[in-house]
Amino acid sequence: MDILKISGISKKFGTAEILRNVSFSVDEDEIFFILGPSGCGKTTLLRIITGFTAPDSGKIMLSGRDITDMPPANRNIGMVFQNYALWPHMNVWQNVSYGLEIKKFPPEVIRRKTEKVLQTTKLASFADHFPPKLSGGQQQRVALARAIVTEPKLLLLDEPLSNLDARLREEMREEIRRIQREIKIAMIYVTHDQKEAMAMGQKIAVMNEGKLVQTGTPVQLYSSPADKFTASFLGDINIMEGEIKSISGKYMSVMTDEGLFTIDRKAGDESGGRVEIGFRPENIFYGHDINIITGTIADVEYLGETVKVNIKTEKNRIFRLRMFSGEFKKIKPEGKISFSVSPEDFIIFK
Ligand code: ATP
Repeated sequence: MDILKISGISKKFGTAEILRNVSFSVDEDEIFFILGPSGCGKTTLLRIITGFTAPDSGKIMLSGRDITDMPPANRNIGMVFQNYALWPHMNVWQNVSYGLEIKKFPPEVIRRKTEKVLQTTKLASFADHFPPKLSGGQQQRVALARAIVTEPKLLLLDEPLSNLDARLREEMREEIRRIQREIKIAMIYVTHDQKEAMAMGQKIAVMNEGKLVQTGTPVQLYSSPADKFTASFLGDINIMEGEIKSISGKYMSVMTDEGLFTIDRKAGDESGGRVEIGFRPENIFYGHDINIITGTIADVEYLGETVKVNIKTEKNRIFRLRMFSGEFKKIKPEGKISFSVSPEDFIIFK
């Protein structure tokens, strides 16, 4: 069931259109990821959901109630920021229980709820510590504990892990997922880091220039991106221009300056005409008899487990490939190499 439903939100600052007709809904108990580059409007969208910024148009429904014009304090939405925003002069217990004090819960309830949340976030033994003496990961836990102690209906996280180092980020990804499952809260998690969203996300909405361009699981977004922006934002891709020459059964033929390629026919591509086709660097095979590309090695980047290899064709086009180190060992670096791409691994862009 939807806990949050956003319909047609638009926002301008001056003449700049920051959000354009954004609509989506979030199920109760899910982590909904919003992934997009810096400046695409993610924080503005969160501020509109919390009520700190008013939209120019559109509607926000939370648990079936229209909250579009409701003051922030009445919305029952928690927020975790990138910079934690903890009070340095208060210890962990005081930081976490503050929200309950403000709401004037009886002391016994405050004690019980604070204790429970400190346990959930594994902070019980740090209750009397002060934020400046805590590690980045612990400070992030305090920020989370503080946001969930008042039991909001929805928790918004704005780039919550970007101040942590790589190892701690991975640990905290797991922690956030565990806490989300334990307390069963709906979350909107905003990030510009595609790896983070892909690793954590069941559902990701990709945002670009104020618009939601596609919503799907990591696999759907990576293997069937709706446009070139989504395709290249989620990973590396080789793209060629071409023209649809023929369509037959399940396949169609696309002529490019690298020759004719047979690719899976996708719904809506019946009309012929110019298209762009792309494939991911790791989707390559050897020994097939269609869709063969031949070239010489132009550049190699050895990454341990895998190797990035750039192949230059006779037409001077560079294809970026990725292979396991074991595969790479079998290649003669001086000679020509040929590889092929399966029809189903091509992505078509109109
Ligand atoms: P980042 O990941 O860098 O935080 P973002 O996707 O969260 O980016 P926003 O902070 O929402 O993006 O900003 C979107 C655009 O709106 C930016 O160009 C920003 O300069 C502009 N903007 C944000 N707030 C205001 C404001 N109050 N007045 C004018 N312009 C603003």
